[in-house]
Amino acid sequence: MNRQRAVVVTRDGVINRRVAHGFVAQWQEFEFMPGALEGLRLLAEQGYEVFVISRQECVGEGLLGWSDLERLTHRMQLEVALAGGYIADVYYCTHSRWNSCACRPPGTALLKQLLKEHQLYPDDVFLVSDDSDDLVAAWRLGVRTVLVERGAFLCDPRNRHSEVASNLAEAARRIVDRDLVSVDSIVLEELPPGMLSPGGKSSALGVLAHQNNAGEWR
Ligand SMILES: [Zn+2]
Repeated sequence: MNRQRAVVVTRDGVINRRVAHGFVAQWQEFEFMPGALEGLRLLAEQGYEVFVISRQECVGEGLLGWSDLERLTHRMQLEVALAGGYIADVYYCTHSRWNSCACRPPGTALLKQLLKEHQLYPDDVFLVSDDSDDLVAAWRLGVRTVLVERGAFLCDPRNRHSEVASNLAEAARRIVDRDLVSVDSIVLEELPPGMLSPGGKSSALGVLAHQNNAGEWR
């Protein structure tokens, strides 16, 4: 049976630029990142189903209406389609950051829901994100990852947990090139202690500093 290959892409920082006050409120503030449309087109051309997953706590905190977020989402999907890409579905965590929901990464609920609803096997999926918490959520489910790096401090050759790319176009090319490479799932127990501890952001970033510049998966 031919199983569907898929790529889950986080939105802010990978598809569009982050904005100074923390969230995109209107389309005028939505600026595609360099390589984003190109990467999405390549994935579509190569037969990958593409999903977007994103934290938009601004909705739960009353700063952005759900209908405004929907309008932004539809416009994003339209612009991507006009550029030759295709976003099959979009998943948001809209809970406030003070609400300890199960879908906010490194929680896995939202990603798990996506895999289930679209009948995807973790082995067939890549997650592309610039945020360590998203990568941890993916690893917990056995989903391979590509980190879009946002700072030189992450570029340490010791990272063995994630492929690293400078933008979505490069991430897409690596996924296409490496698709047939089989990688053992990296289970949580293999991660260094403290990775998921409260305030564990810095320790998670410490792990992400173990980048492998040789471009090897492990
Ligand atoms: Zn949530």
